[in-house]
Amino acid sequence: MNNTVNNAGLNEKIVVAGAGGFIGGALVKKFWDSGYRNILAVDRKPLPEWYQRTEGAFSLSLDLNEELNCRTIVENAAEVYNLAADMGGMGFIERFRVQCLRSVLVNTHLIEQSYRAGVRRYFFASSACAYNTNLQKSPNVVALKESDAYPAMAERGYGWEKLVSEMFCEEYWAERGMKTFIARFHNVYGPWGTWDGGREKAPAAICRKVIEAKDSGKLEINIWGDGEQTRSFMYIDDCTHGIDTITHTEDLIATPINLGSSELHSINSLVSLAEQIGGVKLKRTYDLTAPRGVAGRNSDNTFIKKTLGWEPSLPFVEGLAKTYAWIEAQYKARKSGGHTVRDVHH
Ligand code: NAD
Repeated sequence: MNNTVNNAGLNEKIVVAGAGGFIGGALVKKFWDSGYRNILAVDRKPLPEWYQRTEGAFSLSLDLNEELNCRTIVENAAEVYNLAADMGGMGFIERFRVQCLRSVLVNTHLIEQSYRAGVRRYFFASSACAYNTNLQKSPNVVALKESDAYPAMAERGYGWEKLVSEMFCEEYWAERGMKTFIARFHNVYGPWGTWDGGREKAPAAICRKVIEAKDSGKLEINIWGDGEQTRSFMYIDDCTHGIDTITHTEDLIATPINLGSSELHSINSLVSLAEQIGGVKLKRTYDLTAPRGVAGRNSDNTFIKKTLGWEPSLPFVEGLAKTYAWIEAQYKARKSGGHTVRDVHH
């Protein structure tokens, strides 16, 4: 069944919140490339710090924890995409739970103001961290299906924020009739993602560590946990395609859906792939005190395949090679004092 509509006209206003970040930046570029010409891109970060900026889209630096800012940006908008959250990899979300929880303010204000402004479609980026953690204690994980979020025992801080914001989306549809769409992302990776500084996720962190080891000649790699924890990883282009399709599928109104790859890898196998791409073999050491997250997590894609006849499918080894090449270029540019990460598309 595929009940997809393409609702916004090419000149209607589309708002992307969190556009200075990894996924938001890629989404703006995708919409621009698809012909949309009235895109408002918003992020709290100052413009020079945005990962990716699409020339032609209107970019604004505003804090969406403030209700007035949310009201201003959604005026006359047809569609709003909320990708704004204070987040990072396990190292960040295990340590800064208050900061993660406070992202509830962005969604709370943005959804209310979108409703008042008569926005036709509202998208919220949720996460696999909303799932019950008790189901994720073994590396031989059973893939998570949408109903596994309840009874709720989400990841502390970050996961609970997602679950509560999902509920806002569900109730704005049930009670007020605004069409909302909710995707639970599973580990997104790719070029223009965070690769350094503490908020990076496993694929980027491992690529960077392999590149650093090669560059320094110290052929060692330190891995967080015992490396047996398992995850699936979705390439950024699959993610933005999924967001667009989900938001234009009537059967998915106010219905959380997994958006993730179902190709499962352990962190050790991720390291092996990165070594293979880098053409190097490293001595592995394990930091058993480092944050490692749940033991195992995969995306059950039964529902998305049934609803959309599609699932994220770029093989991990292909996406990782592209990501590795991009991080290596960033690494070299930084070393030689050049520009890193930021890129403006003309
Ligand atoms: P990111 O950190 O690269 O981007 C998030 C952006 O939101 C940042 O640029 C940040 O400055 C902005 N932001 C935070 N608070 C804000 C505020 N108050 N006002 C305006 N902007 C604000 O993260 P990402 O990987 O692009 O993630 C996008 C969304 O997808 C987030 O909601 C995240 O929780 C969700 N998600 C991502 C992944 C992943 O693997 N990347 C997995 C699950 C869910």
